[in-house]
Amino acid sequence: MNILVVNAGSSSLKYQLIDTTTDVVSAKGICERIGMDGSLIEHKQIAKGLKTKELSPMKDHADAMKMVVKYLTDAEYGCIKDMNEIQAIGHRVVHGGAFFSGSILMTEDVLEKLELCREFAPLHTVAHLMGIRGCLEIMPEKPQVLVFDTAFHQTMAPEAYIYALPYEYYEKYGIRRYGMHGTSHRYVSGEMAKLLDKPVEDTKIVTCHIGNGSSITAVKGGKVVDTSMGFTPLAGVEMGTRCGDIDPAIVPYIMDKENLSGAQINDIMNKKSGFLGITGVSSDSRDVEDAIAAGPENPNYEKALLAVNILKHQIKKYIGSYAAVMNGLDAVVFTAGIGENSIMLREMVCEDLEFFGIELDKDANKLAFRRSEATKISKDGSRVSVYVIPTNEELVIARDTAAIVSAL
Ligand code: ADP
Repeated sequence: MNILVVNAGSSSLKYQLIDTTTDVVSAKGICERIGMDGSLIEHKQIAKGLKTKELSPMKDHADAMKMVVKYLTDAEYGCIKDMNEIQAIGHRVVHGGAFFSGSILMTEDVLEKLELCREFAPLHTVAHLMGIRGCLEIMPEKPQVLVFDTAFHQTMAPEAYIYALPYEYYEKYGIRRYGMHGTSHRYVSGEMAKLLDKPVEDTKIVTCHIGNGSSITAVKGGKVVDTSMGFTPLAGVEMGTRCGDIDPAIVPYIMDKENLSGAQINDIMNKKSGFLGITGVSSDSRDVEDAIAAGPENPNYEKALLAVNILKHQIKKYIGSYAAVMNGLDAVVFTAGIGENSIMLREMVCEDLEFFGIELDKDANKLAFRRSEATKISKDGSRVSVYVIPTNEELVIARDTAAIVSAL
């Protein structure tokens, strides 16, 4: 089945055309600066290895979808004759609140519930709604399926998702742990479970999605029992520009000392903290690693090392606590930009965890870089398997969409 996967942002729209019978991506691209001057599309036809770019006004997401259709059906850059060759559209949706515990066919009722999720992720939800409505305008007959980043985490028990605040805040405002990157955690934990020599129900896996945004999840028997992101994607480990878990009393303390508003401190915790806040140089782990590689003479060396040491320390703590929560551990998976590529961070995290049953194969770890397949990086005798598994959220979205549409 040919599925068009759409990831709509406020001024961008990414797309991939995936054949779910072969898992092959035939085309992909991005529309940028939607609703602004200088909107453009960048399109790739994978089989022919062709790339193109066109500046073209796109006032909204419907205009962007028209451009996508134009390129998908283009005689030179396209890969289908007409839109009848696409069976359905699958949308990435960042926040489904507590309404959605799985992927779902888009209906008016579903859209009404999605409107209510605006409270939790205003910018993303508005963008998704524009993307969905843009598709509806261009292809009203085409089934659309919504795949939520939060859905996989809906299996958590109340003790994992309720904060010890007055309970009425949960009831009145829906304040609870939701978790993020669920589609990625679901994909890599599923791939990992297949590699373990036991039934899925018996597996205990910690998945570390470490990128610009990072989250760590405990997956027991194929179901999430805990995850590091919380009510928002600010919680958990140190990230590119986000602080992760801190003592909550620090927030009013700094607001008072620096005379900041709630919006200002929120901005600092989301955009000026993490790797960027510690190093003062960059949010990008490649820059941070380069500063460490340059050695102690480099003026940024100490802070760069501190930034990575903080992340290492926190990931270790999550792995340890999640093993306790699951009463065991079969595998640890690293994924996303840093998890898939940072040889240094993986080595630092896995060091000194032998008592825990984690024995890293340093040579295998060095080879696990920009790989497209799952790569084992633990020693053969290691009680806990450690793998690098490249994430593929688009494939999950395409597969869910195909499954829901086939059952119609
Ligand atoms: P996002 O959360 O934006 O999807 P990604 O998963 O793409 O983020 O991860 C981005 C991060 O991955 C950046 O910090 C980037 O530096 C890092 N990264 C990408 N390639 C490498 C690499 N070769 N070595 C270390 N870090 C890398």
